[in-house]
Amino acid sequence: MNQEAPIPAQDFSAGGVIRIGISACILGQEVRYNGGHKLDRFIRDTLGAFVEFVPVCPEVDIGLGVPRETLRLVQDDSDPDGEPLMQAPKSGADHSKKMLRYAQRKVAELSKLDLCGYIVQKGSPSCGMERVRVYPRLDGGMPRRDGRGLFTRVLMQKLPLLPVEEDGRLNDPLLRENFIERVFAYRRLRQLFAGRWTIGQLVSFHGSEKLLLMAHSPGKALGQLVAKAKAVPRAQLKDDYSRLFLETLARRSTVRKHVNVLQHIVGYFRKRLDDDSRREVHDLIEAYRNQLVPLVVPVTLIRHHVRKLEIDYLMGQSYLSPHPRELMLRNHA
Ligand code: SF4
Repeated sequence: MNQEAPIPAQDFSAGGVIRIGISACILGQEVRYNGGHKLDRFIRDTLGAFVEFVPVCPEVDIGLGVPRETLRLVQDDSDPDGEPLMQAPKSGADHSKKMLRYAQRKVAELSKLDLCGYIVQKGSPSCGMERVRVYPRLDGGMPRRDGRGLFTRVLMQKLPLLPVEEDGRLNDPLLRENFIERVFAYRRLRQLFAGRWTIGQLVSFHGSEKLLLMAHSPGKALGQLVAKAKAVPRAQLKDDYSRLFLETLARRSTVRKHVNVLQHIVGYFRKRLDDDSRREVHDLIEAYRNQLVPLVVPVTLIRHHVRKLEIDYLMGQSYLSPHPRELMLRNHA
């Protein structure tokens, strides 16, 4: 069943290259403090077949060289509530200002590249996204684990809509799927708002994303925003819709939510199926509900019926084809 042709409405090559920023060491570049790398083969080889990476090593870019002394986040004594500093415990050097200045400049440069996502290296005082160790003193002490690397802090402040994820978290199939889904969704959103968009286009975009959104949250805020779109100033409409759209997709989907969506889809054509086909669809949804088969199994069968019965509304749904099949997502029970 995995050999199904994609539903034509989802052409992943349309709209040009998808660019993803990435900590350079994840691509195998030997830029770490010890001259090593943190190559992730899935990211470089499998995801890399569909996207163009923009590698960045903030520490090399600010001239620290390879190899270099290790750095850590340290809470500033004189400012216990302020952002942690980035310092080198051996020499005592403080690279915070230099890194923050660089980050402002680099992120401004990156913002012109139409990035659709960013993958950062876990735990790094420059690149880490969350739970980076923050030491109470330069010479150590018990660290708390709630820091964010200085470069990534600026990246996420300046580009708040950009899907950002850590390489380590991408080993979790659900988090991986969620990140990649958001990357492709963000690209579709950017395409919508790239030119002179109309309310009609927004309504149609929202219609085709409806089931994907439903798989993350049954909330109605986005639908309500679209319903009153004509009364909202355009700039605000674009900002509010983009934020709510990406916030919704960042919520975890669950088996229960997917089952809801699958049943909702089947409701469009159940009556047009013969008894055997109806039973087969029902059994596969139940098998998925009971975690006996992965999501891709009922989705593939449903896609087959949708295509065969030519149900236009469903053929345009991103839910049925949110990312390229070759990424082998939705494959976990
Ligand atoms: S984590 Fe960031 S700063 Fe450290 S080596 Fe990798 S890219 Fe460079």
